[in-house]
Amino acid sequence: MSRVKKIPPVDLTRQYQVISEEATQTVIEILNSGRYIGGTAVTTFEQEFANYLGVNKCVGCNSGTDALYMALRALDIGQGDEVITTPFTFIATAEVITRVGATPVFVDIEADTFNFDLQQVSAAITPKTKAIIPVHLFGQPVDMQRLMEIAQAHNLYVIEDCAQATGAEWNGQKVGSIGHIGCFSFFPTKNLGACGDGGALTTNDKAIASQVIMLREHGLKTRYSHELTGINSRLDSIQAALLSIKLRYLDSWNQQRQQAAAYYHQLLQPVTGVKLPQALAGGTSVWNQYTIQIKDDRLDGEPRRDRVRQKLAEMGVIAMVYYPLPLHLQPVYQDLGYRSGQLPVAEQAAREVLSLPMFPGILEEEQEQIVYSLKDCLST
Ligand SMILES: *Cc1c(COP(=O)(O)O)cnc(C)c1O
Repeated sequence: MSRVKKIPPVDLTRQYQVISEEATQTVIEILNSGRYIGGTAVTTFEQEFANYLGVNKCVGCNSGTDALYMALRALDIGQGDEVITTPFTFIATAEVITRVGATPVFVDIEADTFNFDLQQVSAAITPKTKAIIPVHLFGQPVDMQRLMEIAQAHNLYVIEDCAQATGAEWNGQKVGSIGHIGCFSFFPTKNLGACGDGGALTTNDKAIASQVIMLREHGLKTRYSHELTGINSRLDSIQAALLSIKLRYLDSWNQQRQQAAAYYHQLLQPVTGVKLPQALAGGTSVWNQYTIQIKDDRLDGEPRRDRVRQKLAEMGVIAMVYYPLPLHLQPVYQDLGYRSGQLPVAEQAAREVLSLPMFPGILEEEQEQIVYSLKDCLST
């Protein structure tokens, strides 16, 4: 094989090239305006994003983590409360539960979707449970209809962690518009990514929205009257303006991800020893990641996946592992008392997952090179 080009896990310059002219012009306008925090750029984006999702209210903030934190605070969740979530997610999802003084309760995931198992969610509900945080992991939506039925039966709040799933749908409804609150991240590698940090919280509940508007600005109600212990969590004007531009391209970028996922599927179908991500009937994934599993029968020692990943890197293909250690086994959560082996599906996934390069604008020939290299790595 001739010398190959290196393929990164994500190439954000391809998105930027599409919008570079309008983006540059907008940034210069804001620089000239002298208004760098708040203003119409922020309120315009909030309105556009609310319309896109089909919700009443969108409150911009500094990050997805802050959106999740403020969601819990707005629902008055804290000491003595339990919040059920998945152990197979980015740390932020659980970290905020701990930060408000509540206890994260981890339930195992489904082997096919990497999302938490709804039967186990039901079984984990106790009198202390206040909320459930579903994570639409890798862009694949949780079965929100079933989850809302479970939550309603027990009078629980549902806070959707949509950080990896902007634009994904369950039964034709956008995630982030189905639960009581939706939390979004605009970290650059997410489906709708800013050129820096950013986040948003969405809801149909006006009381929640006004609570969050206070929280994001030091608990301020009217000028210098602080009613809550808040935080400082702003979405910058420049980021908001760039997000407004990118929002217009989001659907076509998500379509490009869907096409790339379908092509991976076609190329990988005949390959033995890998398990492909499953699409769930009812859900429309936006493929923030295309995550395969490298089958591994052992339970300890170095995962076979790590060797495959290393060899792939030597061939110029950078694949990523999200996530190598489930949250219930993280050092920071040792005091919760979970044991290794307790959530076996998540633990097995942590040993086997491998996310292949995935981004809008990825070329078919790049995907062919990735799969060609992968086959080579698997056969040695
Ligand atoms: C990225 C991410 C977050 C946090 O978002 P930030 O904007 O980085 O704070 C939360 N949950 C999940 C699942 C994520 O992927």
